[in-house]
Amino acid sequence: MRPFEFTRADSAKAAILALGTGKDAESAQFIAGGTTLLDLMKLDVMRPQRVVDINALHDNGFGDIDLGPRGLRLGAMVRMAEAADHDEIKTNFPMVSQALQLAASAQLRNMASLGGNVLQRTRCTYFRDTSYANCNKRVPGSGCAAMEGINRSHAVLGTSDQCIASYPGDFAQALMALDAQVEVSGPRATHEIPFANFHRLPGTTPHIETALKPGEMITAFHIPASPMAKRSLYLKVRDRESYEFALASAAVALDLDGNNVKQARIALGGVATVPWRAKEAEQHLRGKTLDEQTAMAAATLAFASATPREHNEFKIELGKRTLTRALLQAAALEIKP
Ligand code: SF4
Repeated sequence: MRPFEFTRADSAKAAILALGTGKDAESAQFIAGGTTLLDLMKLDVMRPQRVVDINALHDNGFGDIDLGPRGLRLGAMVRMAEAADHDEIKTNFPMVSQALQLAASAQLRNMASLGGNVLQRTRCTYFRDTSYANCNKRVPGSGCAAMEGINRSHAVLGTSDQCIASYPGDFAQALMALDAQVEVSGPRATHEIPFANFHRLPGTTPHIETALKPGEMITAFHIPASPMAKRSLYLKVRDRESYEFALASAAVALDLDGNNVKQARIALGGVATVPWRAKEAEQHLRGKTLDEQTAMAAATLAFASATPREHNEFKIELGKRTLTRALLQAAALEIKP
């Protein structure tokens, strides 16, 4: 690991000041749980010159979970396990709890913060192994080794000719489906970003992954109250049942009138370069009776724009089946008033 300067901050203001602005901020990183950053520093993929420890913010308001009539507010320093195990989140926003519970391992969930979780970097092997020279995300303009390489785990939605890396997280799909907002603080002000605009498609700049500006930090997530949130779930399909990233996942929330869909919210994971909202599928379901045929038709629409590569074509069928199953399971949930 390369040498770096280490400081601790006990407030958001002190942390933002310590990170600096402009070029200074670009060469620095906040560290919370460290479950992504430390790995990538050891692999020499991330090379911050300064690291600002923000763990003290957990007990300074940023580790709070607040549930009120307007919805759920999660401080950015809430640990994954704290939100996953929270009884009111389990009851009122089950998709959020399940997405977190199905991620990583118990040890990692105890360490990792929610803010860090949505910022985790891709698991693309060519990104994480610096012996491969061609990675546009790691070295802009260098090419993409995954295009003609082993791309079984890569994305089929939202790809570009510069990058096909899949977004690895789970919690983000729940935020996407439930129309969350990200609260961001920076040197000038605090503002909110719709989660739908937070992650950026790779396009021609795959190294720019989010709407965060240098010097800014995530301080909280707001998930609005919604008639769909209680009838929601997260279904994750992977190579093994624990401690593995999704090959395909679906976050589904439904507002039903009997068997008829008043509204649906769908986000897909494991198959796209960013947390992926399936709006066409949602629109298809509106006003229809939810049965296997309707669910399969919605799933087909969700993958209509998919572009497979040599080793990941299976993800299209797997993704459709995952979404179909998630919709039918969500419809069958017994919801307590
Ligand atoms: Fe790099 Fe993206 Fe290509 Fe992977 S898919 S090698 S992250 S450019």
